[in-house]
Amino acid sequence: MNEPRIAFIGAGNMAASLIGGLLAQGVPVERIRASDPGAEQRAKISAEHGIFICADNAEAVAGADVIVLAVKPQVMKRVCQALAPHLSDSQLIVSIAAGIPCNSLERWLSAQPEAAPAIVRCMPNTPALLRQGVSGLYATARVTAEQRQQAEQLLSAVGVALWLDAEQQIDAVTAVSGSGPAYFFLLIEAMTAAGEQLGLPRETAAQLTMQTALGAARMALESDVDAAELRRRVTSPNGTTEAAITSFQAGGFEALVHQALTAAATRSAELA
Ligand code: NAD
Repeated sequence: MNEPRIAFIGAGNMAASLIGGLLAQGVPVERIRASDPGAEQRAKISAEHGIFICADNAEAVAGADVIVLAVKPQVMKRVCQALAPHLSDSQLIVSIAAGIPCNSLERWLSAQPEAAPAIVRCMPNTPALLRQGVSGLYATARVTAEQRQQAEQLLSAVGVALWLDAEQQIDAVTAVSGSGPAYFFLLIEAMTAAGEQLGLPRETAAQLTMQTALGAARMALESDVDAAELRRRVTSPNGTTEAAITSFQAGGFEALVHQALTAAATRSAELA
């Protein structure tokens, strides 16, 4: 497969992470370009990554194989409608915008209604900024096998990329991983506060909590048994862990998590 030429429309935080990730993977600098109306942002991206960056979205997409829409959802319609006359049939559109369904993008991007473009819609999450993200990807029927690979390579540059087989699953991805970092931050806050109340210096409680979260995630990722089995293995009858787990369960922990994620998925569907 030839290295695709990738154009970023909008060069903010998420685009900068993707550009950094692609370059780190060895994608040649001349294969990546971007556009952004912010002069300061253009100077920053150009200095950090050495890619070509301009103010004109139409100039950025000329000759690109993959076009990444990395603007905020509020400006997406205007950006797409202005881009439509400058697109060609063979170009893949990758949208990372939250809450914008493929059929809206198709409508805004096609100069003629029958010429819908190939679209991959993604839901990444903020750890992508550290290349530790995870994304759900959904492809419309027009996306070719080669284009799927190109989209996967793009999102893999900032973490793990997982394909979905229905667009509605994006709402569940939003509930689990899109909003998920905040749930872990909340748990880190609560465990740190509890550790402090139990007599630890705040900084010690915070470090113990964060390193435990990281270690537990790595164990779960690297183990060949599931999280429930890992938990059973560290929970001795009548021990300290069992005392805590029993207390979590008596408070309805699992039901609460289910309820919280359902609320996030419902909100995601409402926003689309
Ligand atoms: P950001 O504000 O950092 O970047 C957006 C960029 O778009 C800015 O640099 C802005 O100058 C530029 N822009 C504005 N109008 C434009 C136009 N007309 N043409 C071209 N560029 C224009 O935002 P971000 O955090 O990078 O988010 C970008 C997209 O990624 C959003 O749609 C968001 O929903 C999605 N997203 C972000 C995250 C995240 O963790 N940051 C997670 C999931 C999805």
